[in-house]
Amino acid sequence: MPGRRLLLCLALLACTRAAQLPSTPERPVIDVAGMDPAVAPGDDFFLYANGGWIKSTEIPADRSSWGPTSALEELTSKRVADLIAEAARSEAAAGSEARKIGDFYASYMDEAAIETRGLAPLEPALERIAAVSDAQGLARVLGGTLRADVDVLNNTILDTDNLFGLWVAQDLNDPSRYSPFLLQGGLGLTDRDYYLDPAQRMADIRTKYQAHIAAVLKLAGIAGGEEKARRIFELERRIAQVHAPRVDTEDVLKGNNHWAREDFPKRAPGLDWQAYFAAAGLDGQKEFVAWHPGAIAGIAALVREQPLEVWKEYLTFRALEHQAEFLPRSFVEEDFAFHQKVLFGTPKMRDRWKRAVRATSAVLGEAVGKLYVARYFPAAEKARAEEMVRNIVAAFGRRIDALTWMTPQTKARAKAKLAVLIVGVGYPDKWRDYSELEIVRDDAFGNAARYSLFNYRQKVARLGQPVDRSEWVMNPQLVNAVNLPALNALNFPAAILQPPLFDPSRPAVMDYGATGAVIGHEISHSFDDSGALFDEKGRLDNWWTDADFAHFKASSEQLAKQFDGYRPFPDLAVNGKLTSGENIADVAGLAAAFDAYRLSQGGKEAPSIEGFTGDQQFFISFAQGWRRKFREPLLRQLIVIDGHAPSQYRALTVRNLDAWYEAFAVKPGQALFLAPPERVHIW
Ligand SMILES: [Zn+2]
Repeated sequence: MPGRRLLLCLALLACTRAAQLPSTPERPVIDVAGMDPAVAPGDDFFLYANGGWIKSTEIPADRSSWGPTSALEELTSKRVADLIAEAARSEAAAGSEARKIGDFYASYMDEAAIETRGLAPLEPALERIAAVSDAQGLARVLGGTLRADVDVLNNTILDTDNLFGLWVAQDLNDPSRYSPFLLQGGLGLTDRDYYLDPAQRMADIRTKYQAHIAAVLKLAGIAGGEEKARRIFELERRIAQVHAPRVDTEDVLKGNNHWAREDFPKRAPGLDWQAYFAAAGLDGQKEFVAWHPGAIAGIAALVREQPLEVWKEYLTFRALEHQAEFLPRSFVEEDFAFHQKVLFGTPKMRDRWKRAVRATSAVLGEAVGKLYVARYFPAAEKARAEEMVRNIVAAFGRRIDALTWMTPQTKARAKAKLAVLIVGVGYPDKWRDYSELEIVRDDAFGNAARYSLFNYRQKVARLGQPVDRSEWVMNPQLVNAVNLPALNALNFPAAILQPPLFDPSRPAVMDYGATGAVIGHEISHSFDDSGALFDEKGRLDNWWTDADFAHFKASSEQLAKQFDGYRPFPDLAVNGKLTSGENIADVAGLAAAFDAYRLSQGGKEAPSIEGFTGDQQFFISFAQGWRRKFREPLLRQLIVIDGHAPSQYRALTVRNLDAWYEAFAVKPGQALFLAPPERVHIW
């Protein structure tokens, strides 16, 4: 699951028309058939804009919800699959990116070679573990597993099955340099709750996990598997006991602990840190950020307290488990049976070619992305999106100037932050360099392992280099977007900037209503109560005053009340408090996008089309952007856990904009009417 900063909002974003042909003069630009003219806009704006679509759309049998973005995701994965298959068929020069893409994919598909190799690719690692005879040797093996496989703030990847995980990112006290952030790890199940929660469902998972450990050892021909599985599980349970809970991991104030290299033996005795860091290639590093100080100390103590033999059994299992996807079929099936079927309820393994495409697109992400944008993201579309971004940023700046609640000093800080905000559109200016990555056509396991080490070394090589704020953390072929809070930057990948979300064949005003509002939403997160933690350079330095917080809190409560009033089911209402931060961002994004659209028209309204005024097109496009159908169990679950309100209520954000009342002549007495003082204007 993407973290809170990822546009989970976008995963559920939908838009005007299904991803089909661009519109022609015979086809309407506005999806009038998808609307319901019998509903008054002021009574139910979501149904007014989407009633026809709701009636005519069925959720596919293998989906739990459906909207046009679902179709867009399917289209994009098919395009990526074709690009990769083409690369695999081509006679590209050895060492070229196309050759690497093709060879990686081919190696994944070559099941015969994988079966023939068996566990041979793992032998060196298993021998290293077997040869461990003392604490120093153990620390060396553990240090050799450290990888750059976690990310606290951007992609929010918070767990690793290696003992610790490394995130190389800009330092939060001194954003001019990179720091190595050390995070807790070591668990085969992703969170401590799996080990410690007394609920019966969790206890069942624990029993099945222990059986899974034994099954993997048995497949590897290791004797005494059941007894070993019990000890391995017990060690993991002890590791879980010292792990910090997720809410602490997400708290930057708790994580930002600078430890000098020589602090480790004192603050976290038990692990031979000298040997550990040397094996990790970090012996020259003088300072670290100990994100989980309690867990780092607790795990180091376990290294000393638990018997060496148990650590070796644990490491053997971890080695077998870590890249099971690239091992022979029996391991892949056992991996699926537990990690997918038991943990997620997935009934059927995805086709091998689909898994191969996904793995290739992840490992050679920007190389695949380069092919993707060359074919599907014309320069004109990048320029059009950048112009829209410029207008939204300008509109947001004017809104900050006009705020009455923000203190002048805070406004100055906000403007400084806006001035250096980087909004990445489509793809990075500078592509990732894969020249040091070796890909071998018949060695799937080795390719994955070499990538993981290549990635680690590339990240570690940044230590001591100046911070590159133009960095991208999301591949261009992903239908998603991300806010990078400490870099004060956003990534809007090419795949999200295409029809039906962003469409050159319709008036720009409609793109402002759909995609523009989302860009505005993301920008606003850099200035809200969570964005207030980081200044314009990305330094952890709260730049809001108490008065700013007080006003923000009062307005959020008003908006929360609005959302508490929405009831998708008679027995279940939207949780206004849970969704407050995202709802505020929706209001901010819609308001900034509206101003930006007017700015793009020299302050005037866009021309009428098919009987709809320019302003009406903007709001209809916004509401059609949120069209989505849910199966009831999913919708009920989302209402309880998701920080975003269900799509149909996000469409009702319009109630807070005066311009919407004018555009549709909404009057007192209509269901959605809010008297002017009840409309929430935070930004
Ligand atoms: Zn958001």
